[in-house]
Amino acid sequence: MTDFEGLVAVVTGGASGIGLATAELLSSRGATVVALDLIPEVADPLVGIRADVSDDESIKAAITEVVARFGRLDVVVNNAGIGAQGDVTANDDAQWAKVLDVNVLGMVRVSRAALPHLRNSPSAAIVNTCSIAAWAGLPQRALYSASKGAVYSLTLAMAADHVREGIRVNAVAPGTADTPWVSRLLDSAPDPAAERAALEARQPHGRLVSADEVAGAIAYLASPLSGSTAGTILAVDGGMYGLRLRPK
Ligand code: NAD
Repeated sequence: MTDFEGLVAVVTGGASGIGLATAELLSSRGATVVALDLIPEVADPLVGIRADVSDDESIKAAITEVVARFGRLDVVVNNAGIGAQGDVTANDDAQWAKVLDVNVLGMVRVSRAALPHLRNSPSAAIVNTCSIAAWAGLPQRALYSASKGAVYSLTLAMAADHVREGIRVNAVAPGTADTPWVSRLLDSAPDPAAERAALEARQPHGRLVSADEVAGAIAYLASPLSGSTAGTILAVDGGMYGLRLRPK
């Protein structure tokens, strides 16, 4: 993999799970990495800034601070997201607004604040964290799936709008990944071990995706090695999308 020496990256939701694994990987390859998170507790050399992707002022201030402190911005990883369970009757309007606000508008806010700075970078990339939920028809995930379907379309539209400016926009679409998010879900199940086994069996490769595997895909899409790739949604799901398998 190419290195990120001299480049500055922001990773939203960069203090946990996929975001943290991505921040650590980009940092190990030479980038200055800022985790924008509600709870920005990260270890050196990562930098944590408290920011809420559902608050436009907070995001504008955070991006301004990054550029003031580090002089540039090259890579944006729009990764912060929250979940929701149930069919369409399970969540009221306020819950729909909240999840769409964080998962979709959050990416818009960060990208809007970052684009003027990315235009100054010779190596500009945005990578959005989508999900198999965008296309898999996951049962009992209506709101979450709708939010990730919007991320899918947003990624394509942004890629079309900005590729001629030298800013590549792509996304990763993980299958169920072994992160604190999924651990929390499992811990709340009546039988966490049985629930974990069921989730593993749902993956075509018989195990959960690791956060490091998703981070690797994000780092590839953020790097000049993928310099001719834009508008791609890279599945990291053990083959579910590639083989057109249905989740059980
Ligand atoms: P996680 O809960 O481990 O980490 C998410 C991070 O986002 C946390 O640090 C949290 O504080 C932060 N965050 C939440 N709301 C925020 C906000 N409003 N502003 C700023 N930061 C905020 O979750 P994860 O599993 O690493 O998920 C990361 C992304 O990957 C999400 O977009 C999720 O939808 C996506 N994803 C996860 C899985 C999976 O199975 N874990 C699968 C597909 C896609």
